[in-house]
Amino acid sequence: MSAHPEFVIVGQGLAGTALAWQLLRRGRKVLVVDRESGGCSRLAAGLITPITGKRVAKSWRWDELRPAAEAFYREIETRTRTAFFHPREAIRLFATANERSRYSGPGGEVAVRDDWFNAAFGGFVMPEAARLDVSCYLEASRAHFRAVGAFRTADLDPKQIEPNTSAVRIPQLDAEAQTLVFCRGFAPDGDPWFGAIPFRAAKGEFLTVRVPGLAEERVTHRGVWLAPLGDEVFRAGATYSWHQLDGVPTAAGRTELEARLRELLKLPFEVIEHRAAVRPIIGGSVPVLGRHPDCPRVAFFNGLGSKGSLLSPFFANQFAAHLCDGGEIDPEVDVRTFLNRVSSRHNPE
Ligand SMILES: Cc1cc2nc3c(=O)[nH]c(=O)nc-3n(C[C@H](O)[C@H](O)[C@H](O)COP(=O)(O)OP(=O)(O)OC[C@H]3O[C@@H](n4cnc5c(N)ncnc54)[C@H](O)[C@@H]3O)c2cc1C
Repeated sequence: MSAHPEFVIVGQGLAGTALAWQLLRRGRKVLVVDRESGGCSRLAAGLITPITGKRVAKSWRWDELRPAAEAFYREIETRTRTAFFHPREAIRLFATANERSRYSGPGGEVAVRDDWFNAAFGGFVMPEAARLDVSCYLEASRAHFRAVGAFRTADLDPKQIEPNTSAVRIPQLDAEAQTLVFCRGFAPDGDPWFGAIPFRAAKGEFLTVRVPGLAEERVTHRGVWLAPLGDEVFRAGATYSWHQLDGVPTAAGRTELEARLRELLKLPFEVIEHRAAVRPIIGGSVPVLGRHPDCPRVAFFNGLGSKGSLLSPFFANQFAAHLCDGGEIDPEVDVRTFLNRVSSRHNPE
């Protein structure tokens, strides 16, 4: 028997999961499909951090994104009866005097154990930081989607879908939907509608390390972040590389992370695991969403870059309001802005 969901979502990473929830809470009939292999969400550390990078700058639209993320994850925690959102202060240590001079925010000096960390230039505490247990959130969501008949495992070939003016036929699923949304993260094979939007994807590698004697419970940032997993085990990351965009860890990545960890830590550590994934970065590192202007039955939600945990709830909500009720999409994240840029590059006046 063929299925007739209103929305088919291709991809159950952070983008597809948040969008599915935002549509379901509006009472819409949704089918999420995922091939259940790869994707970078499963490897994401889930850090939600107000001040990041060498510029020590506040994260883009932090003041509206952070409360939206907390409200959303709390609601899904209640619906799935699972705990995965953990507000917890984080520490930023300055790596140089120059970096310290660039910081003008609140916080003052931070108290850290100076037999654990290299904190010669001081630092500050970030009370609004949080951590999403991404795997737990995705698993709990998938279990719920399955339970309500809204999930299927499939590797969907984008070239085999057939949109027309009133619907999208998906023979591979024996389904017909009103709209199909690609939430595929970094997908170098592209699709016939949005494949021209160029990724600036960045490979990220991270380590799992054991640090005997280290009992810091907060995430610590200083050129690298170190996130506690319990029992003196920590996750440390992450590199940025624009080459060899695959999930294969490299010797160079490990060397870089180990060097940065030695700058942060005064304690010896042992590497337990080394992994890699590719961040779906587009344009200026902002999300990209919307229906295709010439083929509105297909749509796109991508570009979550390094901050999928923070960005996905707010923009999935905005996108769901657009898909269901024609709500506005912010021009800076509207997929039409990106498609126009591509076509003006190909057809200069
Ligand atoms: C090392 C590293 C650390 C990170 N740490 C953080 C962090 O601390 N905090 C944070 O917020 N973000 C972090 N990120 C970024 C975060 O991982 C991304 O922003 C986010 O995961 C992107 O989600 P997505 O849903 O767009 O893509 P993905 O997670 O890649 O999801 C895409 C999904 O689509 C599926 N798919 C693709 N094609 C098909 C198809 N044809 N048919 C069926 N299914 C398909 C895939 O299986 C996958 O499940 C990190 C990333 C990396 C690499």
